[in-house]
Amino acid sequence: MEKKKTKVGFISLGCSKNLMDTEVMLGELNSAGYEITPEETEADIIILNTCSFIKDAKTEAVDNILDIAWLKDNASLKGLIVCGCLVQRYGEEILSEFPEVDAILSVGAIHEIADAVKAVENGEKYVSVKPPEQASMGGDRIVTTPEHYAYMKIAEGCDNRCTYCAIPNIRGKFRSRPMEDLIKEAKDMEKLGVRELILVAQDTTRYGQDLYGEYKLAELIHSISEQTYIPWIRVLYCYPDKITEELLDEFKNNERLVKYIDIPIQHINDDVLKKMNRHGGKEAIVSSIKKLRGISPYMTIRSTVIVGFPGETEEQFSELLAYLKEARFDRLGVFEYSKEEGTPAEKFKGQVSKEKKAERYKAVTEQQAEIVDELNAEKEGQIVKVLIEGYDPVSESYYSRSYADAPEIDGKIYITGAPKNAFSPGDFADVKIYASVDCDLVAEIYSGSKHKRKI
Ligand code: SF4
Repeated sequence: MEKKKTKVGFISLGCSKNLMDTEVMLGELNSAGYEITPEETEADIIILNTCSFIKDAKTEAVDNILDIAWLKDNASLKGLIVCGCLVQRYGEEILSEFPEVDAILSVGAIHEIADAVKAVENGEKYVSVKPPEQASMGGDRIVTTPEHYAYMKIAEGCDNRCTYCAIPNIRGKFRSRPMEDLIKEAKDMEKLGVRELILVAQDTTRYGQDLYGEYKLAELIHSISEQTYIPWIRVLYCYPDKITEELLDEFKNNERLVKYIDIPIQHINDDVLKKMNRHGGKEAIVSSIKKLRGISPYMTIRSTVIVGFPGETEEQFSELLAYLKEARFDRLGVFEYSKEEGTPAEKFKGQVSKEKKAERYKAVTEQQAEIVDELNAEKEGQIVKVLIEGYDPVSESYYSRSYADAPEIDGKIYITGAPKNAFSPGDFADVKIYASVDCDLVAEIYSGSKHKRKI
């Protein structure tokens, strides 16, 4: 009788960069002959790929370990493997804290996943904690995002050393992936039916500097556009002082590079930026944003700011608030500063009180909500091309995204009045926006047009 295959379940926490590691591990386990199951209750072994970037992420990882441990004690689950950022940060401490954990793999050891599963199948413990730089990047992967979009990690690690950030300790030095590997991967994604390829890294704008001695993000995007027909290419996590003229030209001239950029600024006051060890300062930020706005009136800019950084005064905060009002970012992530173990800012004097941070957070989010309402009102009447994501039977509407919406982080465009079987996920359509609800927009099909797989 044929031996029953071990079923492996996966839980991936954190960002899209971590998700790509999960996808590579899935690919390796699939090649090793394991069955992958999306159902936790059916799995023999569960692999938890963790994030520990900030305190909340750590708490989420620990909660998940405890939930899975319950399955081990009370259901048929035989093994629990924890990998990723939490292991890179805390190593073997995890095994002593949580005896239910059978194996740990750090970021630098994820390519040992098949060996770890094998050991756990045999009732053995498996421990591998290696420096993050030892992780070989990329590999055949099983894409877990909906068929029509995929992330592609173009580099790993970070050399920026922002004083509040634990990432360089967890993910190691910045390493670009060779351009030919990325182009091959983009072609593979195209063959799988991907309509939107999203380039990610801790700092995408630094791409190429370590390997080729210069920034090559623009060239990479250009080459992918030349060698595939993927209709939308999106770039996330850009750094303000590395917006090169080549990248601006690519935005201007390459229609398939969507007019959307994610460019965290974190603050605008020079002294705060300096204490954060952000490079370039206010002038570089203001100039980059101005140049990006100059590309097109439809350029969508997403940014991120931190409020309550140690020593942030009322004046410095007011300067930030005033700049955010002027810049009118289309999307804005706001974070209250959180002390992270092992970072320089943890020991900075002048830690801002919890109440003050909350007050500043509220002021920024309220101001931004007004800006988003105004921007959404301006969109009413516009005709935009959208990528259909699915159909919601409750509201009897399709949900979709335009170039201005990155998956998972931005809003959606709901399309009313279209017959149920008019579209499939991955189709493009032209729609006319007629209303907005919070961060989402509502639209109707424009002239009944339907564009199957349009470029
Ligand atoms: S750019 Fe700064 S915030 Fe971003 S990952 Fe690097 S060190 Fe962290």
